[in-house]
Amino acid sequence: MRHARGKDLSFRGDRYEEVPPDDWTTLSQLQQWYQLAARCGGCGRVSRVDRYALARAHGAALPLCAIGARLTCQNCRNKTGNMLLLGTMPRD
Ligand SMILES: [Zn+2]
Repeated sequence: MRHARGKDLSFRGDRYEEVPPDDWTTLSQLQQWYQLAARCGGCGRVSRVDRYALARAHGAALPLCAIGARLTCQNCRNKTGNMLLLGTMPRD
């Protein structure tokens, strides 16, 4: 997996980076300690995405690069330009 090119950002204390548009890692291949979030292309809101709910809805073979286009912002209902973010669980 390549996630080194993403731009780091933090959200509620966790670190996230943008998923490159050519990342074909599937939900089932994604290691357990990764969690997903998304940033709205309209209003900029960042919210967590439940990867297991995504896998149930779209199948575990869904690649990361295809997820952003399937997301709808909970705030403004925007469906375009949404960016998937990949984060790791906070360590203590
Ligand atoms: Zn929005």
